[in-house]
Amino acid sequence: MAVLITEDCIACNACEAECPNTAIYSAGEPYFYDGEEKEAVSDEFTYVVPEKCTECVGFYDEPQCIPACPTEAIVMDPDHEETKEELMAKKEKLDAMGRE
Ligand code: SF4
Repeated sequence: MAVLITEDCIACNACEAECPNTAIYSAGEPYFYDGEEKEAVSDEFTYVVPEKCTECVGFYDEPQCIPACPTEAIVMDPDHEETKEELMAKKEKLDAMGRE
């Protein structure tokens, strides 16, 4: 399961520096995946790219961005449920592509 940033986001970007997968981007900022620039997922809030979020699996025991958020705007994304094995496979794919 990836995490999701809700409308409670105040765009302080405290979470962005915590992400080991470069899965968090500022509102309106394009993101990078597999060498390609992609359109921003949100123009209003700091956002998480589900394809790049491993819930921190492979790095830490818990998502690092959730406690970093001063407004508790980061929650688990029910639309992106994955097993630990799937998350680890995603992490290894990101390792191979260099996370950009
Ligand atoms: Fe990044 Fe971890 Fe937060 Fe996912 S849970 S966005 S990998 S810091």
